[in-house]
Amino acid sequence: MQCPFCKMEMEKGVISGDRYSLKWIEEDRNKGAIINAFKRGIKITNPWGTNQVETYLCRDCKKMIIDIEDLI
Ligand SMILES: [Zn+2]
Repeated sequence: MQCPFCKMEMEKGVISGDRYSLKWIEEDRNKGAIINAFKRGIKITNPWGTNQVETYLCRDCKKMIIDIEDLI
């Protein structure tokens, strides 16, 4: 995958979770990590599955791209 910022090729890897799902929560619903544990959000990882999500990294731009098409 090409970095949308610098157009260089990105590195493929995974973000690997621990015991809980990583979640994306809208900025206006964000109440901090402890309360967010009980809130709904888009799950990035699933601890009942591999608990990993395929991720592309650009080290120069310090950006990551995550594909969430079947995780919503
Ligand atoms: Zn880049």
